[in-house]
Amino acid sequence: MNIKTLLFAIIIFFGCTPKNATTNNQNSRTTPTSSISKVMKTKPKNIILLVGDGMGLTQITAGMYMNGNKLNLEKFPITGLHKSYAYDNLVTDSAAGATAFACGVKTYNGAIGVDHDTIPIKTILEEAEENGLATGMVATSTIVHATPGSFIAHQKQRRMYEEIAADFLKTDIDIFIGGGKKFFNNRESDDRDLYAELRAKGYVMSDFFEKDLEDIQIDKTKKFGYLTANKDPLPVAQGRDYLMPATLKTLDFLDNRSDKGFFLMIEGSQIDWGGHANNSDYIVTEMIEFDNVIGEVLKYAKEDGETLVIVTADHETGGYAINKGSTRDSLVTAFTTDYHTAVMIPVFAYGPGSEAFSGIYENTAIYDKMKSAFGF
Ligand code: MG
Ligand code: ZN
Repeated sequence: MNIKTLLFAIIIFFGCTPKNATTNNQNSRTTPTSSISKVMKTKPKNIILLVGDGMGLTQITAGMYMNGNKLNLEKFPITGLHKSYAYDNLVTDSAAGATAFACGVKTYNGAIGVDHDTIPIKTILEEAEENGLATGMVATSTIVHATPGSFIAHQKQRRMYEEIAADFLKTDIDIFIGGGKKFFNNRESDDRDLYAELRAKGYVMSDFFEKDLEDIQIDKTKKFGYLTANKDPLPVAQGRDYLMPATLKTLDFLDNRSDKGFFLMIEGSQIDWGGHANNSDYIVTEMIEFDNVIGEVLKYAKEDGETLVIVTADHETGGYAINKGSTRDSLVTAFTTDYHTAVMIPVFAYGPGSEAFSGIYENTAIYDKMKSAFGF
C-alpha cells in the first residue's frame, strides 16, 4: 500500500471525504481495506444514462407510493438537481432537454443535436463512437423521437422524423430498439429503404412485425436495430412490455463488445405522455416499469464495477401534485398544465464517477460530467 492509498484509507476511516476526491465508492466505505483499489478507480468504463421523460419529483413520489412505498431509485447513493431551462424558454421541451444532455449546450425548444444557431454539435454518443466505445439506445417512444433523436441526429426541428431516421446511417451505433418502423422503410418524403441501407452497413434489422423481440437471439458479431412499433409504441397499461427484455438484451450485447467500454441511453419515454394526458394512472404505470428497469441496470452495474449509472429526466410534465386526502395506497392528484414545467429535476448516480453528480447544476452539466468521467 503506497502513501497516497494509505492516506485515502485513513480519511475514509474517519468518515469524511477529501475536497478534491473525485470518487466515492459506497461499498468501500464500509470495507475500506478489502476494496481499496476500487476506491481509487474514478473513471467508469461504461456509462448508462436513463432518462425518464417528464419524470419530476412528484412522478417519482407517486410511483413510489403506488409501488408499496419503495423504488429502486432509493438505492442510489448520490442525488443532485439540475436546472432544465432551454436557451429560449424557461420551460424546456424534450428536444432542447435531451440536446443539453447529449451535446452540453442550451438550445431552443425543438432543436435536435444543434445549438441555438442550428449548428450541429457532436453528441456524447458520437464522441463515444469516435473513441472506440460501443453505443446503444433503447426507448419506449419512437427511436426518432426528440429524446433518442438528440443523441444521434442533427436536425432543426424535432418533427423531422424521416430526416432523423436517416441520420442513423451517419453513426455506427451498435444497437437501437424503439418504435417508428415507418420512418425507416415506409417513408413519405422519399423512397429510401433504411433497412436495406442499414443492412448494407452491417446491421441485422428486424421489427415487431417480423418477430417478437423476446424470440430473437441477437448476433453479437453484427450491429442490431429493432423497431417495436410502426409509430408510437403502446402505453405499458395497454400491453407494451419490451423495455425490460430490450434493456437486458442490450446490456448482454454491449457487455465486453469493446474493450474501451460503452455508452447506453435508455428512455422511459411515456411518463411524459401520462403528464400531458393529466392521467395519474398512466404516469404511475410508466414510472414503475421504468424503475423496474433501473433496478436491473443497477444490478448489472454492481456486478460489473466499472459502470456509471445516471438517472434523470429532461423536465417535469403536468405540474403534477399529490394533494390532501391522499394515502399511501390512494393518491389525490392534480395538474396545473397539460405541458411541461420549469421545476428543478432530480439526478441519481451510482458507480465510479458518480460523486460528481451531487449538488445543483445546469442540465448541460450532465454532458460535461459524463464527458469528463469518460475522459474524452
Ligand atoms: Mg422523450
Ligand atoms: Zn412532453
